[in-house]
Amino acid sequence: MQKLTILGATGSIGVSTLDVVARHPDRFQIYALSGHSRVVELAEQCLTYKPRYAVVADQSSAQQLQQLLRPGSPETEVLYGVEGLCYIASAPEVDTVMAAIVGAAGLLPTLEAARAGKKVLLANKESLVMAGRLFMDAVREAGAILLPIDSEHNAIFQCLPSGYSPDHRAGVQKVLLTASGGPFRTTPLEALSAISPEQACAHPNWDMGRKISVDSATMMNKGLELIEACWLFDLSPSQIEVVIHPQSVIHSMVEYVDGSVLAQLGNPDMRTPIAHAMAWPERVDSGVSRLDIIATARLDFEAPDLERFPCLVLAMEAARLGGGAPTVLNAANEMAVEAFLNGDISFTRIAEVVAVVLAGTVTTEPNTLEAVQSIDQLARQYAVDVIQRAH
Ligand code: NAD
Ligand code: MG
Repeated sequence: MQKLTILGATGSIGVSTLDVVARHPDRFQIYALSGHSRVVELAEQCLTYKPRYAVVADQSSAQQLQQLLRPGSPETEVLYGVEGLCYIASAPEVDTVMAAIVGAAGLLPTLEAARAGKKVLLANKESLVMAGRLFMDAVREAGAILLPIDSEHNAIFQCLPSGYSPDHRAGVQKVLLTASGGPFRTTPLEALSAISPEQACAHPNWDMGRKISVDSATMMNKGLELIEACWLFDLSPSQIEVVIHPQSVIHSMVEYVDGSVLAQLGNPDMRTPIAHAMAWPERVDSGVSRLDIIATARLDFEAPDLERFPCLVLAMEAARLGGGAPTVLNAANEMAVEAFLNGDISFTRIAEVVAVVLAGTVTTEPNTLEAVQSIDQLARQYAVDVIQRAH
């Protein structure tokens, strides 16, 4: 029986994870759930899964959750804040941690899980983009097992030979990172500045949280994933090629020196990579419908249009620069996306804000958590200034 903590249980990945858990009560048991501000949803999950702990954002949310739980789930203790998150990520009873908080807020608890040597199922790509070396060092030093949940990285993991390691590259030539191109792949360029948050969040193939949906629409998501792949598989940015594949049936590919290209296919439903990582190295039913390859009929591919997707170019630049640039990129992007979702800036301003902050911030590689946090804070403040200047 695997005891599982889900960080970000009330989000899109969290809910899909609970769906897989519910299909295999003989394998998985929920130890703890976190839900930040969505207290009512978290209370419902607690009444169903009866975790030992539930974690929310602050004391008042904790009181609210306690009140909702009292009759049905006396066994659940309510904690709050970053300390609560770090505790449920690293408690001795926990085997597996699903890291599914969105954004930089996921870094500390995910790092705690790695430092405690847990099996870490990584959805929170931002923590790897912000603090890649620190995070990978923690995984190695503590002997943690890191399994990617991001569908592309999970596909790459499945297409790499078992035993693949940085010292033993096993003939890997390059990685083909696929991208759907999002909702605006063919929208006339002059229409992009008037895109609303609702349009940006309506992804053609995937049902996701709002932040990653906007990142998919700008293709910043693919740029963050390129940086994520460099850390996960010890690749240089030049070994990764981004390929637009609008159907989202192939989730990524690995090319070998002998000319072989291996791909992982499936319907676009996050329960496949989630179930893969949860059961690894075994396989379990995920509830995802079978891929009908005849009905799929076509798989199309094209190169990304770099004029249309400046955020992808900025992320490639940050990946090439290395050092603190990915930390700056991530912080500026989080602030710009939030401003866009709040209606403060237009869709096309997202890339402009990130570009100014990235160009105007000189950093060196942060090798402590404090250094990461200080670069993150500086870049956020800079982004706020740039956003306000536009008003
Ligand atoms: P979401 O917005 O649906 O859920 C986010 C979760 O994080 C919620 O449970 C929320 O309560 C919690 N949260 C938000 N702010 C928090 C904070 N400050 N402190 C603590 N908890 C906080 O997001 P999602 O789509 O589930 O994405 C989660 C992560 O997984 C992201 O990093 C995203 O990039 C990654 N991911 C998601 C998908 C997908 O299909 N949704 C695919 C690949 C990767
Ligand atoms: Mg992805």
